[in-house]
Amino acid sequence: MERMSILAILLVTGILLLFVKTDTYAQQNLDRISISERSDGKGFVIRNHLTATPDSFKITQPSSDLIQFMIYSSNLDVSDLTKPDLPGFVRNIEYQNNDAGFGYDIFLEEGSYFSTTAYHDRNGVHILIGLEHATREVVDQITANSDFVYWYDYQENNVEFDFRFSADDDAFIQMRNNNGFNVIVIDPGHGGHDPGAVNRSLGIREKDIALTVALKVGEYINQYMPDVEVVYTRKDDRFVELSRRGKIASEVNGDLFISIHVNSARNSQAHGAEIYFLGLARSASALEVMKRENSVIDLENGGGPTQLSEEELLIFELANAGNIAISERIAMMMEDQFRSRAQRRSRGVKQAGFMVLWNLPMPALLVEIGFITNPNEARYMSSENGQTILASAIFRAIRDFKQEYDRSLRQTNNRVSND
Ligand SMILES: [Zn+2]
Repeated sequence: MERMSILAILLVTGILLLFVKTDTYAQQNLDRISISERSDGKGFVIRNHLTATPDSFKITQPSSDLIQFMIYSSNLDVSDLTKPDLPGFVRNIEYQNNDAGFGYDIFLEEGSYFSTTAYHDRNGVHILIGLEHATREVVDQITANSDFVYWYDYQENNVEFDFRFSADDDAFIQMRNNNGFNVIVIDPGHGGHDPGAVNRSLGIREKDIALTVALKVGEYINQYMPDVEVVYTRKDDRFVELSRRGKIASEVNGDLFISIHVNSARNSQAHGAEIYFLGLARSASALEVMKRENSVIDLENGGGPTQLSEEELLIFELANAGNIAISERIAMMMEDQFRSRAQRRSRGVKQAGFMVLWNLPMPALLVEIGFITNPNEARYMSSENGQTILASAIFRAIRDFKQEYDRSLRQTNNRVSND
């Protein structure tokens, strides 16, 4: 009896101590970040000069040229932070102040390979990041087991939602009866003499952003989904006719077609991503975007605008219900990624009659990743960090869909073997 009550007291005290610990509200400053070469020549040390021990910290290396570091603290002041000069092996550091603390992305120069660890200094207050020279193979092993830090995850009010197809869904059955989900066609919009939308004052062109982001999406697929084949409609700055893009996708029996574009608007405040799949334009703004993206037809035909009629689209919708359902499903997964992960405003999933999506015998999407007419967004889309995040948002939607598809396949196979 007595032993029981002692145990109870200990338990209660333990719980109280826990509360006291997390309620500690000592002011913490991060005064300086410095980078120095190790005396043994094996690499570098990044020192975070803190004035008090933080709750915890985390380091991750999601790709060979990106190291992400996060300090968790409810009360970290970085207003007087002295940032380091960038040494030769660092291309850029992007700092992220968020609700959970403070972190940064370290972008490495090409050919710089490091294995990383983060640890307390002997004084127990500073946190050191050790960068040790490593081979490409070692770094590849590390990145294969690391996930991105999505800084938006650390902001309050981020929304997650979940919805999925069932294994019995007609669209899935149709896909299984075809080729499965093995070939993804990535289509960087415009190219060559067709720059797409242009921000003249910043010297930024849609065709360049679309190409860089498209190539990054393909790299992620190659790296993380090695059983999926990636086909590009263009891999460099060249003009490819819209009809040719569709032909490429059909010839390789693509299971998904993703066309990547950049939006523009008269209102320079407009920002955010829009994701389209083929169908009747359901809104006036979708019609505007559709007209612009289809206008390249003028360049090809040297004549008047070719527009898909409502009737053509209706016939298409009826004949391709399965592909449209899957297109919409992936579009919604992508919207989720843009909104809750990539920290971009999502302007929603929309339908429109894009020529480039027309007549494709596969699910097809057109993504407008942001507005080139908004200076902030234009700069973001042409930055290394922005392109990495946008490309990974597109990639993650594809990966999520592939996982859902594989799950439905297993369910069906189990059912068949049980019969
Ligand atoms: Zn475009």
